[in-house]
Amino acid sequence: MSIPIYLLERNDWHTHVEAIGGAPLLQWASMCGLGEKHRSSTLIYPDAEGNIALVILLCDTPLNLWSCANLATDLPQGTYRLVCKYLSEIIEEDVKCELALGWKLQQYHFGRYKARTYALPELEMSDCIKQHITPFVQAITTARDLINTPPADMGPEELADAAHTIAKTYHAKYHCIEGKKIASDYPAIHAVGKGSPRAPRLIELRWGQKTAPLVTLIGKGVCFDTGGLDIKSASGMLLMKKDMGGAAVVLGLAKLIMAHGMPIQLRVLIPAVENSVDGESFRPSDIIRMRKGISIEIGNTDAEGRLILADAITDACEEHPELIIDCATLTGAARVALGTDIPALFTNNDTIAQELMRIGKEHHDMVWHLPLYEGYADQISSPIADGNNVSTSAFGGAITAALFLKQFVTPTIDWVHLDMMAWNVKARAGRPLGGEAMGLRTLFYWLQQRYPHRPIA
Ligand SMILES: [Zn+2]
Repeated sequence: MSIPIYLLERNDWHTHVEAIGGAPLLQWASMCGLGEKHRSSTLIYPDAEGNIALVILLCDTPLNLWSCANLATDLPQGTYRLVCKYLSEIIEEDVKCELALGWKLQQYHFGRYKARTYALPELEMSDCIKQHITPFVQAITTARDLINTPPADMGPEELADAAHTIAKTYHAKYHCIEGKKIASDYPAIHAVGKGSPRAPRLIELRWGQKTAPLVTLIGKGVCFDTGGLDIKSASGMLLMKKDMGGAAVVLGLAKLIMAHGMPIQLRVLIPAVENSVDGESFRPSDIIRMRKGISIEIGNTDAEGRLILADAITDACEEHPELIIDCATLTGAARVALGTDIPALFTNNDTIAQELMRIGKEHHDMVWHLPLYEGYADQISSPIADGNNVSTSAFGGAITAALFLKQFVTPTIDWVHLDMMAWNVKARAGRPLGGEAMGLRTLFYWLQQRYPHRPIA
């Protein structure tokens, strides 16, 4: 028999506690200071044999996926069920799904180098809910694992292997461009990656019906970013295993899309490099003739992400998809503007911006629209090349980075660019410290709305 977890509203729990367990439970709750400031919102109540009879959790409403997530690691081992009937709102099936998803995301553990040594509590859920949340859990787990893996074990080759494994699982076509073909056809990917003995490459996945609308996802795959010759400081380099976070999010999103059989033709492009310090490294003041043909002067080798993305975007546009989404841990400036939780969203279609912002808020996976303000475009110009990879201004760096990418996007193609942290700087309910698939759920729900399953006639 499972142990009930009663979800009660923070401001209206006294009467319900009495209804659930009478005067002794009410007494126990007040003894433990339930609901008092600086005291716990969780109460564990034993039965006469010393087993757990029930759990009470005080929540703020409306509930969301993080509402009871902490319990998934805080409660003792056992099987639990959520009881929502004492809440003033009626809990819809999709909220139950979200609560279950939050529970599972809280239980994520990066165990490759240190296994978890304690058993976790289990949440009872219907087959329907299990079926619904499993692909989300798998997609987000994949993204988190890829980001959390240290760079020695997650170079361009290992990232390609991970993409290959995903392709096999969902019967997608896998292709990887390396060596001479990178040097000749993707000059920016080659330039950024050539300082590392771990060769740069362009990873490609294709899936879905040829007749369906083509959607291309692009993820920045800088497996480790020293900054190159314009080397980063020690503190700036410390988290740079996450500089392939965009690739990780895109691979997670691709998994979710394929698991749902979304009616699109999916193409995934991941330029994968290591930005290293070496005699072969590209230099500040070098000029790269990009795949698109335009010349870019290198103002700083640490602005490498936009260079490799530019070649991938050029390749993507050559097939005229109806939508391109790129995800990248691109600028510190986006973090200055929005903090570490909220990816900066840029798009050439304002309707899409509004939809993504709304869905992001609804699903507690926020993204926030910043403008592609052309007034700053002259900041990324060069007197001796068609452009520079960094801005002459210290301000608005997320915008100038997005403007840099925009030069490579065919204007008739809908384009979404997410500049994200891809990392939880502290643990919160459902979001353990470390790699995070920011924006993944928002992008998926938006794509699901844009490309709905049509009933078979
Ligand atoms: Zn960099």
